[in-house]
Amino acid sequence: MSLRAILRPDLDDLEEYVPVKPLDVLAAEIGVPVDRLVKLDANENLYGPRPAVREAAARADFHIYPDPGQTRLRAAIARYAGVDPAQVVAGSGADDLIDVIIRLVAPPAVVVPTPAFGMYRFLAKIMRARPVEIPRRPNFDLDVVAIRHAVAQHAARIIFLTHPNNPTGNPLNRAELEALLDLPALVVVDEAYIEFGGETVVPLIDRHENLVVLRTFSKWAGLAGLRVGYSISSPELAERLMALKQPYNVNVAAEAAAIAAIDHRAEIAEDIAALVAERDRMTRLVAALGWLEPYPSVANFVLFAVRGRPAREVADALRRRGILVRHYDRPDLQNCIRISAGRPADTDTLVAALQELQQ
Ligand SMILES: *Cc1c(COP(=O)(O)O)cnc(C)c1O
Repeated sequence: MSLRAILRPDLDDLEEYVPVKPLDVLAAEIGVPVDRLVKLDANENLYGPRPAVREAAARADFHIYPDPGQTRLRAAIARYAGVDPAQVVAGSGADDLIDVIIRLVAPPAVVVPTPAFGMYRFLAKIMRARPVEIPRRPNFDLDVVAIRHAVAQHAARIIFLTHPNNPTGNPLNRAELEALLDLPALVVVDEAYIEFGGETVVPLIDRHENLVVLRTFSKWAGLAGLRVGYSISSPELAERLMALKQPYNVNVAAEAAAIAAIDHRAEIAEDIAALVAERDRMTRLVAALGWLEPYPSVANFVLFAVRGRPAREVADALRRRGILVRHYDRPDLQNCIRISAGRPADTDTLVAALQELQQ
């Protein structure tokens, strides 16, 4: 019996999400020591977790299953976000919640304004939901009319918005969001970067039961490798998500680290402030080169339009010097690179390399 006759043919060409390679593998490929890599391609917090957070994870009882009800974690997140614990559902990263939400609705289609984070499209396709991509305007604001149209035309029951948006860095416009909340669809506002800038839309949940906010510990708290994120919604929707998620979706180390990060949020706020300051310094220095044009960003990364040479060449040349950035060249995002904010030394290495490139 051949696998072709058994497996889903609609997944044959599923190559949507290109995974990030482990640091040691990357370093070996490039031929530099791991500690010389300047990793500015995945918006991670290069300060890493605070020691107290690392120690909390290490102290977890690894031999005991996690609490499926997430009682302590949900209480800590609720305290952090200023909501009721009954409104919170934690997951193995925000990505897990994106998946659970799509499975709860199982819509024929979802709407994704592009350029967008790739995971919405990837997880929708796995659930046989058609990702209907609606191009943003030239300044990356939403095309509300086209989104309304797409929801009606394709019976899309989920709209994925990102605030601030990845990879463009711009915040969500409040009036546009309110217009979309009247539609017969769940409106998912992914606030993965909200700790770096932009005003949270969580207060709107009380008035709109179709609004779900996603957050993560991956970016601000430096816990990307532990996988912990969460949703905030009405208690009714949270109950449905709790019922559908895998019972042990947040492991005990991740749970302990997330709670410790909340307990130590004042210290982590210093790292966040440093990254925001560095984002602005990096933007100024890179823009001053004259051939990389920044789009305004309130997140911990900046998108630059590359002038006069292919973005891929810039990314490849940086990579040969051990500096990793993301490049884009596709219909919705032509000839751009996205650079994460790092530590001052990371910026200095980046800028020196870019100066070398232009000679
Ligand atoms: C990084 C990122 C996430 C991923 O969150 P995890 O908690 O690491 O799964 C979600 N949404 C956006 C827009 C991101 O950029």
